[in-house]
Amino acid sequence: MQNYDVIVIGAGPGGYVAAIRCAQLGLSVACVESWSKENGKPALGGTCLNVGCIPSKALLESTHHYSYIKNDAADHGINVSGASMDVNKMIARKDKTVHILTQGIAGLFRKNNIDVLHGRGRITAQDNSGRYLVEVAPSSTADEETITASAKHIIIATGSEPSKIPPAKVDNDRIVDSTGALAFNEIPRKLCIIGAGVIGLELGSVWNRLGSEVIILEALDTFLGPVDNQLSDEAYKILSKQGLDIRLGTKVTGTGSNNQEVIVIYEDSEGKQQISVDKLIVAVGRSPNTEGLDAEACGLTLDERGFIEVDGQCQTNLPNVYAIGDVVRGPMLAHKASEEGVAVAERIAGQPGHINYQTIPWVIYTWPEIAWVGMTEQALEESGIEYNIGTFPFVANSRARATGDTTGMVKILADRQSDKILGVHILGPNASELIAEAVLAMEFDASSEDIARTIHGHPSLSEAMHEAALDVDNRAIHI
Ligand code: FAD
Ligand code: NAD
Repeated sequence: MQNYDVIVIGAGPGGYVAAIRCAQLGLSVACVESWSKENGKPALGGTCLNVGCIPSKALLESTHHYSYIKNDAADHGINVSGASMDVNKMIARKDKTVHILTQGIAGLFRKNNIDVLHGRGRITAQDNSGRYLVEVAPSSTADEETITASAKHIIIATGSEPSKIPPAKVDNDRIVDSTGALAFNEIPRKLCIIGAGVIGLELGSVWNRLGSEVIILEALDTFLGPVDNQLSDEAYKILSKQGLDIRLGTKVTGTGSNNQEVIVIYEDSEGKQQISVDKLIVAVGRSPNTEGLDAEACGLTLDERGFIEVDGQCQTNLPNVYAIGDVVRGPMLAHKASEEGVAVAERIAGQPGHINYQTIPWVIYTWPEIAWVGMTEQALEESGIEYNIGTFPFVANSRARATGDTTGMVKILADRQSDKILGVHILGPNASELIAEAVLAMEFDASSEDIARTIHGHPSLSEAMHEAALDVDNRAIHI
């Protein structure tokens, strides 16, 4: 039996990063991964690389270019006629991007001497010396045998899977989840999405840009609840204008499909409604993936929602067993999973691994992008904290004028007494990149005055951040 210092179960952005950091710290590591895609070998990178962040961003990028050529290039004097999208080529490019990145992780594992154990992992026992035994059972290829390996420390990083709802059962044909929606081989004429969350808006944007008529059915009466209200209101208007038909306060009660169409039946304030579409995407959240771990048998405690219960250090109820990423509480984001992986590896190696959960950025990759860190204005109001606001619209930013992407704004919320930055919210071009400055500022407990006194290159979109910081003290220059 092979013995390791650490066995990581799951090779997503939580697990693979944890494994690499453990190896960097001199620990012997194996990573168990059940996903088998290429020649019976596990596809590393988890949801994020295979069916999440990367493929969705590849499609968003391709369709953004297409939309630019169709709608905006002429403004720059570029006349393109007959532009068309080769969907199969776009999907093939996305698959190639995924392949290159997953192979890159396999290379990093080789470089760091990390063993990959292919199959479904679960803790079966603890031996007399306190080491855990992990059984790795074949997940897909029949010719593999069940093996057992042991380790003193276990890191569980088994991630999440799409949540299901009874009225819309995924059949992977007409009714799909996010994975199916990344692989359509033709543009649906009419597309319905259940859930106006991050996936609904990103994948809705992809297919809407290619000409699909997109209807998004959202159960809640509010749009993008976790986003600052001023920005979510603006985003709703912009996305609706782009063609996303977002219907709030709807309750899907049933679906039916044949080889021609899907019928979606729902209720709204006016009663029972019915629409007929080519494809239906179910994007109503994700659920922790503990299936196969046999949590009960090994004594792992799950919370009432099925997440593995951990403390602030990602320690489970079992000694030396940690859990990270989507399978534990907190935002389901790749960078959160990776940071927990690094922190746990460092703790195992006797170092003070640390995560600042207050400064995890969020990005929604619509166009304009939506990005934020820290508290929203509505959360500050609820908590009674007094604050000042600084805003700056991209329409007054010279670089945005030059590129033509003038929608949106930067909004900074700072403590009224200390001026410490409490939240930064961006709706605009490249918000995903601009938010990094705000995260760094908050990590260093910066005040809005610190950003106001930082020199930003001209002309750049980052000057909108500078001006919003100046505006906290009512001294923005260009507005
Ligand atoms: P996962 O990535 O889910 O990886 C878990 C791995 O464990 C999987 O490979 C699985 O096969 C394996 N596994 C499970 N059980 C076992 C077992 N018993 N034995 C062996 N292996 C097992 N996040 C962002 O931050 N930015 C984005 O832009 C973004 N876009 C997304 C787009 C989509 C369409 C989706 C679906 C998600 C997106 N996410 C994004 C979320 C992100 O993918 C997840 O937060 C992230 O992948 C979680 O990482 P993880 O390591 O915890 O789990
Ligand atoms: P989500 O939680 O963002 O949105 C789900 C939406 O579905 C919510 O608005 C919810 O109210 C709605 N909903 C739930 N049940 C419903 C029902 N029966 N009928 C109608 N609406 C219903 O979840 P998601 O969009 O599925 O994405 C899952 C997670 O994946 C995200 O929360 C995020 O953590 C991660 N993700 C991140 C990114 C990113 O960082 N850019 C992109 C995609 C996914």
